[in-house]
Amino acid sequence: MDMVLLTQAVCPSCGAANRVASGRDPALAKCGKCRHSLSLTEPVDVDDDGLARHLRLTRGPVLLDVWAPWCGPCRMMGPQFTSAAQRLAGEARLLRMNADTAVSPNNLRVAGIPALILFEQEKEIGRHAGLIQAGDLVSWVKDRCPSRSAQT
Ligand SMILES: [Zn+2]
Repeated sequence: MDMVLLTQAVCPSCGAANRVASGRDPALAKCGKCRHSLSLTEPVDVDDDGLARHLRLTRGPVLLDVWAPWCGPCRMMGPQFTSAAQRLAGEARLLRMNADTAVSPNNLRVAGIPALILFEQEKEIGRHAGLIQAGDLVSWVKDRCPSRSAQT
């Protein structure tokens, strides 16, 4: 299945926007400015400023997992989200936000956690409430990002 590709991603270390070269191994992608790994194969922890920067500068889908350390289903979601990040490497940017230390979940009207919110070009295009397995999450993301696969 063709998928919307991630064509620009934010460096988790210095915050620089980096073009993502298609056809290259996402696991090896490094920041052109600071040489830190772009971490395209794993979730990136963000605070409010980090989320805003990723949403503004990412070209391609961004999937946010809102969680909290005291939430049992959130902790079960953790490894599923990590697995999904590997499977969506180079196709979507996966971010994690601790709801206890950020105001963005309130601004996004998150009512329960874990909450999974999918964005493209800063706009919310999907939301899933509650625990979801990695395979189902990958399918859910791909189902909501048909825009460019339809053109290929
Ligand atoms: Zn960097």
